[in-house]
Amino acid sequence: MTSSRWDRRIQRAEELADACPAASEILRFYSAIARVQKTVYEGLKASRQQLAAASALLPHVPPLLSLVKRIGPAPLARMADELDRDPGGWPDLLADQDLPAEKEFFARTLLQPHFEYQAGQRDIALGSMQSTCPFCGEKPVAGVLRGEGEGGKRSLICSLCATEWDFRRLLCPHCGEESEHRLPVYTAEQFPHVRVEACDSCQTYIKSVDLTKNGLAVPIVDELATVSLNLWAEEHGYTKLQRNLLGM
Ligand SMILES: [Zn+2]
Ligand SMILES: [Zn+2]
Repeated sequence: MTSSRWDRRIQRAEELADACPAASEILRFYSAIARVQKTVYEGLKASRQQLAAASALLPHVPPLLSLVKRIGPAPLARMADELDRDPGGWPDLLADQDLPAEKEFFARTLLQPHFEYQAGQRDIALGSMQSTCPFCGEKPVAGVLRGEGEGGKRSLICSLCATEWDFRRLLCPHCGEESEHRLPVYTAEQFPHVRVEACDSCQTYIKSVDLTKNGLAVPIVDELATVSLNLWAEEHGYTKLQRNLLGM
């Protein structure tokens, strides 16, 4: 696990920002945020601590707040302003479990590289086929398809630590439904490599990125770029299994 993962995300976000006008604002904002995350990750790596504490993230709060105040969407910029006036609340921000959506963005921006770094220090059972992350227990934000045809493999990517673990192709990661006719798959012409994988038993969906159709895709970023698929799925009565960093 190297910082080139961050560089690939940043580069892909910039490419897609040019290619997908509908999502370009989101992607440019994400690429700036991913640069902050890369700095956090590299700081943790340089400190060579086996298990860095969340308190190591506090020095990154002020630059994150000033960035979001400058270029963030209005609700996040307002929250950045509020947080800036209350430095005493920052440790809680990084420790609390149930934060409102606008605060959660700031917490997760800093906690993602922290957990991604921690996950890289451990041996994780990636073949466990469980529906939540085998390292941190969080839900998956996206799926990844590799290999051709029905025998192709699906894996899931953790929304917090970005660990990718194996998962069955025909199985709902929310309710365990496994009959094919209750697990419809939808694609849009615009994004042939991204599928909405829905479940008619629990009405949730997750998007999977098919790397056999587009080897340049970076799943976390392509998931963000296809926000129009979320809107489509939600109009059709499905709820996303796990929201991404930007709350979508
Ligand atoms: Zn995880
Ligand atoms: Zn289900």
